[in-house]
Amino acid sequence: MTTSIPPVEMTVLSPLDGTLVGTLPCAGAEEIRAAVATARTASREWARTTPEERGRLVRAAADALAQHAEELAALNTRETGKLAPEALGGVLAGVGTLHQYAELGPVHRGHALRGGTLASDYTVAEPRGVVAAITPWNDPVAVAAGLLGAALVTGNTVVHKPSERCPHTGARLGEILAAALPDGVLVTVTGGPETGRTLAEQADLDVLAHVGSTETGRAIARAALDTGAHVIRENGGNDPLVVDDDVDPAWAAEQAAIGAFTNAGQICTSVERIYVHRAVAEPFLAALAAEARRRNHEAALAPLVDGRMRDAVHGHVRAALEGGATALEGGEVPEGPGSFYPATVLRDCTDAMPVMTEETFGPVAPVRVVDSFAEGLHLAARDRYGLAATVLTGRIAHAQRAIAELPAGTVKVNNVFGGAPGGAAQPRRDSGAGFGYGPELLDEMTQVKVVHVEMPPSS
Ligand code: NAD
Repeated sequence: MTTSIPPVEMTVLSPLDGTLVGTLPCAGAEEIRAAVATARTASREWARTTPEERGRLVRAAADALAQHAEELAALNTRETGKLAPEALGGVLAGVGTLHQYAELGPVHRGHALRGGTLASDYTVAEPRGVVAAITPWNDPVAVAAGLLGAALVTGNTVVHKPSERCPHTGARLGEILAAALPDGVLVTVTGGPETGRTLAEQADLDVLAHVGSTETGRAIARAALDTGAHVIRENGGNDPLVVDDDVDPAWAAEQAAIGAFTNAGQICTSVERIYVHRAVAEPFLAALAAEARRRNHEAALAPLVDGRMRDAVHGHVRAALEGGATALEGGEVPEGPGSFYPATVLRDCTDAMPVMTEETFGPVAPVRVVDSFAEGLHLAARDRYGLAATVLTGRIAHAQRAIAELPAGTVKVNNVFGGAPGGAAQPRRDSGAGFGYGPELLDEMTQVKVVHVEMPPSS
């Protein structure tokens, strides 16, 4: 029998040029146990502070993050290749989210009922206790700030495990935020999947909050079956885009390109598969190929996060090409340093190809022509994921039908990345469970106690 020894450290190479970013230790079982114990000890006092005081401290943490925004953004770009303006945007989004939770925490309220004239019936939201937040690399600061802000302001303490693909960014984020908070309220542990697995298996956790792949989310949910921790899972997606016959094909191609190529397709709600009506298919495909070509000529795309990700993306593309699809643009691994991959447009895709059935998480726009909007909707709905979906149509009846029929947490009409600030959604099926964002995340991070008070008979 062979015993696998978990790695004791991780090395991060920049996806921009392959140069060394640095090496950090992977927390082992002892360190993880100690981190959870520290957070548990701190939780007794932290849970007793007022929501207003917690809001004040989370606001101070947000302000500290704002002061280090450029530094963190630069680190994030170096580790994950995220374009500089988008990396800065991600950190500032994290600052905004922390500010939002600092305001929302103190006004997070319960319900009251009247069971009798001299009786009170009401609910109190109590912190759950210790939260493990296990986060990904593709928007590391914004995503972590949401989970951390909501958990902290509601009186929980947190053990945060950032992704092994950007551990320096995660560790520095932890240092900056923790410095504004009482000792032990936020603890960061660095490491890879093994560290995450060991953390998820800790018995003394009350919440397991995971943002990341569906496979990991499932493993975390299984671990929680043994510990009883409350699970929040925001996982992968295979978001469809359905293009109707009445839209301007050039505009539709622009929408498709934004959806498929932003952050080199490494966004959970990226457009992953496209169903276009035959009536506009040819001009749409030509315009989409031109959008991709322009991005490739201008070298406007971020690299994929590493070689492993590039191999996975190219594997999907190769399988599509072998299965009869044609690349109108891209589709080949470029020469040179870094893990770049071109914006790729595939036509003649069929339903069983991995580009259509799986989350590719790269700058790939696979297109399937359909004979009617109804056929597009039918194919869009036939999927194991349920994160988000977009339709482009000028017809109100088609939009309403899409809203009613698409089994996804979010349905967008006429804007691939449309949504209100502070918006939240419940992912469905393999995309996860529970609210990972917005005011509803405050409910996920708390448990409600129902209180009934009435007078004794003698009074
Ligand atoms: P991942 O699940 O591989 O990693 C995320 C985190 O989980 C990392 O910190 C990792 O170390 C940890 N982890 C890995 N295996 C684990 C295990 N067995 N037990 C416990 N922890 C473990 O995901 P990723 O590759 O970092 O991120 C990309 C994925 O995240 C994509 O599928 C994307 O769609 C998804 N994502 C979803 C959302 C959303 O809101 N739905 C947002 C961002 C990213």
